[in-house]
Amino acid sequence: MDLTNINVIRELFSRHGFSFSKALGQNFLINPAVCPKIAEMGGCKEGVCAIEIGTGVGVLTKELAKRCDKVIAIELDERLKPVLAETLAEFDNVEVIFADVMQTDLNEIVGKFGGKDVVVCANLPYYITSPVIMKILESRLRIKSLTVMVQREAGDRICAVPGTRESGAVSYAVRYYSEPRLLFKVNRGSFMPSPNVDSEVIKLEITDRNKLPNDVEKMLFRLIRSGFSQRRKQLLNPLSGELKMPKEELCGMFLAVGIKPTARAEELKLEDYIELAKRLMG
Ligand code: SAM
Repeated sequence: MDLTNINVIRELFSRHGFSFSKALGQNFLINPAVCPKIAEMGGCKEGVCAIEIGTGVGVLTKELAKRCDKVIAIELDERLKPVLAETLAEFDNVEVIFADVMQTDLNEIVGKFGGKDVVVCANLPYYITSPVIMKILESRLRIKSLTVMVQREAGDRICAVPGTRESGAVSYAVRYYSEPRLLFKVNRGSFMPSPNVDSEVIKLEITDRNKLPNDVEKMLFRLIRSGFSQRRKQLLNPLSGELKMPKEELCGMFLAVGIKPTARAEELKLEDYIELAKRLMG
């Protein structure tokens, strides 16, 4: 069954009485070139297992299942149950869990793969792109990489080098856990229904280089979040409020770790925030 053929999808939906839910970010891929590319570039191959978030009709799920030993997919919309039973019937290596990814214990899912290499591949629902990515990164799942379709603007921000104009709090957080890069761009016509924005596929290779003690890590994210909540202001102002610390004292810490007292949130490198967090917790 060709799940990138609009007529096939229409027929499937009318038979199952299914209609798209905008609230659930249901823009399904119909460009036949895209899903195989996500699976290949996402590292799907023999000996590897995959987690997918949001199956839709299973167009990407099939490409993952063809290449991987096992696929566990999480889909919130139970109306897709009969549709997927049909579209994925030929695969005995796919398990679909009907649940909210934000409420799912992903470490437990990784545990089901018996120690094999695991990758995450998904065309993410756009309304929860950053929360899902951050949940996966913060859970420190034993995964190799995360290859996801996101809105172009969100992808650019996630991949931006911290300390550049394009960067935001999420760029720092993502770099702390991983090495992000843009794989390829996808235009809005590749989806049904077509969204109002273009998209891109990004890959985050998980790294362990920045493992800090828990309290320092917590402080690090507090500093980044607070700094970017008022990114046009000098960082000293929001941070002294957040930490309830006199500006003069904080200024001394800035200088001790080599940060300009007049710097704004986006002028710091990730390493600057790390040094400041260590100093504050030291
Ligand atoms: N993978 C399919 C494709 O590429 O055509 C569907 C992608 S669509 C952008 C996102 C999918 O995520 C939808 O099927 C939607 O129902 C599902 N979804 C939305 N919110 C979810 C959540 N909180 N947990 C799990 N799945 C969710």
